[in-house]
Amino acid sequence: KLHLVWLRNDLRCMDNTVLYAAAEQAQAQSAALLVLFVATPATWSAHDMAPIKQDLIRRRVMQLQTELLALNIPLLAIEGSSYKQLPALFNQLCQQFELNVFVQTEYELREQQRDAAVEQIVLAHHGQFIRFDTQCIMPPGTVCTQQGDVYKVFTPFKRTWLKRLHENGLHCVARPKALAKRALSLPAFPLMHAGDESSSAWPVAETDVLEMMRSFCREKVADYQQQRDFPAIDGTSKLSAYLAIGVVSAAQCVARLQLEAQDSWAREKSGAEVWLSELIWREFYKHVLVAYPGLIKHQPFQADTAAIRWSNNPQLFQAWCDGNTGYPIVDAAMRQLNQTGWMHNRLRMIVASFLVKDLHIDWRWGERYFMSKLIDGEFAANNGGWQWAASTGTDAAPYFRIFNPVSQSEKFDPQGVFIRLYVPELSKLQDKTVHWPHKLGGVKGYPSPVVDHAVARKQTLALFAEVKKPL
Ligand code: FAD
Repeated sequence: KLHLVWLRNDLRCMDNTVLYAAAEQAQAQSAALLVLFVATPATWSAHDMAPIKQDLIRRRVMQLQTELLALNIPLLAIEGSSYKQLPALFNQLCQQFELNVFVQTEYELREQQRDAAVEQIVLAHHGQFIRFDTQCIMPPGTVCTQQGDVYKVFTPFKRTWLKRLHENGLHCVARPKALAKRALSLPAFPLMHAGDESSSAWPVAETDVLEMMRSFCREKVADYQQQRDFPAIDGTSKLSAYLAIGVVSAAQCVARLQLEAQDSWAREKSGAEVWLSELIWREFYKHVLVAYPGLIKHQPFQADTAAIRWSNNPQLFQAWCDGNTGYPIVDAAMRQLNQTGWMHNRLRMIVASFLVKDLHIDWRWGERYFMSKLIDGEFAANNGGWQWAASTGTDAAPYFRIFNPVSQSEKFDPQGVFIRLYVPELSKLQDKTVHWPHKLGGVKGYPSPVVDHAVARKQTLALFAEVKKPL
């Protein structure tokens, strides 16, 4: 008998309910325990997963192998290619072992299909396939209106979410206890390759990531509300990449927040309360995704917006991707994404709004480009963020509220510190002109604006007016 923990986006030892439960059962039944990870680069790339995220996953899995070894828990990391080959792989394991498979539930369509196919194989061999719905603190379906409906608006969702937290409390499980050493003979599988090291600026040891989270809660969260909107300030947690692949859990974040910010975490608009809200946004988008499967198929949440006639100009799209639009804050942000694989939240909102409402390009083009570059690319948050910015989603920005990229720049990067970091062509400009250098007649080597914001804004209103009922 083999208890097998199949890890995907839960790459941690601490507060890993799936691993903990499997280890407890293995010990109680004197069964063997194996942790499995299968790299599927062909599927990852087909889903536009950024190379830097793929590398982070590979580095993390290798590190986790060492961390689990200290507990005498073997981690078998296999180099596969696509989800399609997984049933055969599990079939091979089922030939040799009576298998009980433990997994964390995943919500996206292809992942659901993948799990159903593997489950079928395991059940056919009289094994068990046990799911744990642990991606969120409150699993999808548990935060509903009194009528049992899923919330379409964030504020009441948050209120009910907090009520549940108050009623249920938080539950984090410990790292599993070390098991007795035992030999396990396994079929020969190709072992996972190392990555390209493109994510090497991001630590992968669980202790380092937990320390990042703890020091943020200890030292930075109090100022989060004041600092989180300024891209030149290191005022946010930078935990998104780790939350996305589960090196740290949201429950661990909230537990630490409650500990470090005991007096303020429940006080509205305190840094701690606002940070907690962001973690609740993360859950909100996952709940919405589960309730509205059309989102996974890239449909807009607001059906009428499906008819918008985007102009989808490929040259303008390319200028946006490359950070050559002539709008300094947009260009600095896109270059940050291209160079580092991460972008500040305020900038994500600005560039998303710019793509959709200044360049009139379908938000799905931007969603896909983000996914292909972000180290923290995560379907629910990315889709939610894009649909918010495009005014097509749940609780989205109203379509007539259109960011002015120059005033956003003046407000959130007042001295142009961030712009100068990524757009060296503008490094010598004064604080006042750096946001809109074209006032001076342009700067050598820096592109002219690809569109006129005032004109583009009117066109956006017309595009939406065509498909929306009159206000
Ligand atoms: P912090 O400000 O420290 O927030 C803590 C955590 O809360 C984050 O790590 C993240 O897990 C969660 N969070 C914060 N803001 C949001 C939000 N608006 N929606 C959902 N969860 C949130 N986040 C992703 O994790 N992956 C994505 O692919 C992604 N794509 C986005 C696309 C667009 C167009 C927009 C506007 C936002 C997107 N976000 C995405 C949300 C947000 O920008 C990032 O989570 C945040 O910038 C990550 O930095 P941080 O870890 O320092 O966040």
